[in-house]
Amino acid sequence: MSDGAGREQSVTEYFGKNVFSLKTMRNYLTDKAFESLTATAREGRTIDPSIADEVADAMKNWAVAKGATHFTHWFQPLTGTTAEKHDSFIEPDSEGGVLLKFSGKELIKGEPDASSFPSGGLRATFEARGYTAWDPTSPAFIKEGENGATLCIPTAFYSYTGVALDKKTPLLRSAAALSKQVCRTARLFGIPTDNRRAYATLGAEQEYFLIDQSYFEQRLDLIQTGRTLFGCVPAKHQQMEDHYFGSIKPRVMAFMEDLDRELWSLGIPSKTRHNEVCPAQFEVAPVFEEQNLAVDHNMITMETLKRVAERHGFVCLLHEKPFEGVNGSGKHNNWSIIGPDGKNWLAPGDSPHENAKFLTIICALIKAVDTHAGMLRAAVASAGNDHRLGANEAPPAILSIYLGEQLTEIIEQIESGAVKSSRKAETMELGVDSIPPLPKDTTDRNRTSPFAFTGNKFEFRAPGANQSCAGPNIVLNTIVAEALDQICTQLEEEIQAGQDFNEALQAILQQIVKTHKRILFNGDGYNIAWQAEAERRGLPNLRDTEAAIAAARSAQEAEMFNRYGVLTYAETTSRNNIYEEQYKETVAIEARVALKMARTLVVPAAIEYQSALVTTLRGLVECECKADGQRELLGTVCKLTESTLSAIKALEEAMNGSSSDILAAMKALRQPVDQLETLVPKELWPMPTYAEMLFTI
Ligand code: ADP
Ligand code: MG
Repeated sequence: MSDGAGREQSVTEYFGKNVFSLKTMRNYLTDKAFESLTATAREGRTIDPSIADEVADAMKNWAVAKGATHFTHWFQPLTGTTAEKHDSFIEPDSEGGVLLKFSGKELIKGEPDASSFPSGGLRATFEARGYTAWDPTSPAFIKEGENGATLCIPTAFYSYTGVALDKKTPLLRSAAALSKQVCRTARLFGIPTDNRRAYATLGAEQEYFLIDQSYFEQRLDLIQTGRTLFGCVPAKHQQMEDHYFGSIKPRVMAFMEDLDRELWSLGIPSKTRHNEVCPAQFEVAPVFEEQNLAVDHNMITMETLKRVAERHGFVCLLHEKPFEGVNGSGKHNNWSIIGPDGKNWLAPGDSPHENAKFLTIICALIKAVDTHAGMLRAAVASAGNDHRLGANEAPPAILSIYLGEQLTEIIEQIESGAVKSSRKAETMELGVDSIPPLPKDTTDRNRTSPFAFTGNKFEFRAPGANQSCAGPNIVLNTIVAEALDQICTQLEEEIQAGQDFNEALQAILQQIVKTHKRILFNGDGYNIAWQAEAERRGLPNLRDTEAAIAAARSAQEAEMFNRYGVLTYAETTSRNNIYEEQYKETVAIEARVALKMARTLVVPAAIEYQSALVTTLRGLVECECKADGQRELLGTVCKLTESTLSAIKALEEAMNGSSSDILAAMKALRQPVDQLETLVPKELWPMPTYAEMLFTI
């Protein structure tokens, strides 16, 4: 007992120990500076310059006491990862020694050379200056290294002309747009907003694989592309469903314990850990937080997963499809809205009035997702995620919404509102009737939907394990802001014209359901029949990144981002250029790696085996032994080697074509190679197999 209590206490002690949190700041700042800074963080304003020096000095003193020697502005360029450039605190004094200094100016603004980050044609190299600006809504933290520590300051990254070059800037802008429209909705519902804001919440469930480092090092494809380009699915993989939630092996457990401790010290509220569907696959999920912070925390979580894995002799694979034929890795994006009343607006309320508000948000989401299904798909598009969407245990590339039986029934009642006689007593009057309780178990049964209502939040399951949550959340915030804007505008007009609030709302929501109900689907999203049904409904099925980006390039999307101040036209275009370029480059790199492996590893191994077979066969013929089986085996190996060689040639030629040509040629090359793997002796096969990588950790 005492042991357990002791451990529990130590967690509360070290939770957030490496974060310059409000709690810590209180001890380091004067009351005036503390109050100013908390107001800044709460209202998302920029910091008052008159307190910047004091805050910077306090931050430095705290960090130095924890062993930090350097600081860095930590930002999220469009590469999809994080970036940092370190400066030490030292400044020579005039007596041959040094002082440790950190000024308000250095805290607020950094000036990294931006020329090597993608800008999508927004900026010429001679105008390479980029700036990083502190985001006080996400606290500074300390990253501990082997021999020292670094103070990391979360920042937004933009060009000298003010163009956003990162993922945080539009996320913050989209959060502001959402807040504005939610507060406007609140006022229509008689909820006072005063100076308060609304915000989205995010809980990101992160899937990952762990494999032994020694295997990783023997696979050029994993090293250079993050996924296996060759390899057969082993006889046993996930069919027995014995890994999911299975007992965790001690070596993995030691890793997870270490991981949680690190995450907690960084103030990341890691909550659940478990084995996932595929052997060697796992998941970690935090308690949800305000979206911007949760996005930063997920970026740190990915980095921490990789770092801690190394310490345990593992490599953590965050690729969406590291192994073909088995489960891929996603990142479930649990999203909700906290209104200016401090309540979760996606939780059905107790009163008819609260329920009218809840159903307004649900209908806004239905309208938003149906109108911008292509844009949402584009927000999760990448070369890696293309392999996952629609394959084993992953939602299809077709966007649809799962509401569960009970909520669907209520939505159907809203739809039939105007034709009460057609369905006796099955109508619901908004603002008058109550919603029956929606038990979580009935809302969460369908795991095949890409966008599911799960009791008090929507779970967007299409994002890939390797992606930043920023992209999908920028889109979600903006499309919901737009839907609410349109609902509010109509509602305000009708109230102005003397209509009753509830009746006007009912009519608006009814129209939304009628127009957008095609996006609702409670059935099996993995079923092939859904593809035909979705096509019949006119829902887009954007199978790959190129198709998704083409949808994102539509004028309607650019206009929306511009209207809500999230991305200018130029920013939208540049992002689409960057993502398309990244996609093409990723596919080209994979193809080059596949060619290299096939030429220098696979073909030589096959030839070596053939020559052994030829020698044996010659001997057998000399001895006049019957050797039909062995002759046939040689024939098969010979045929597969030839097929491999011609597939190599075809892939070389495809390199001049489109990405889909290249991918098709890679697939064709993989076939004979994977067949060879089943024939070539183990000691000759030049790389670790799936069975070894997935089952021996
Ligand atoms: P699952 O069954 O998918 O594992 P859970 O109920 O365990 O779902 O929740 C998954 C994630 O959803 C967790 O990160 C949790 O904190 C988050 N979550 C719960 N409520 C909310 C909310 N209101 N807003 C955002 N995320 C939430
Ligand atoms: Mg989930």
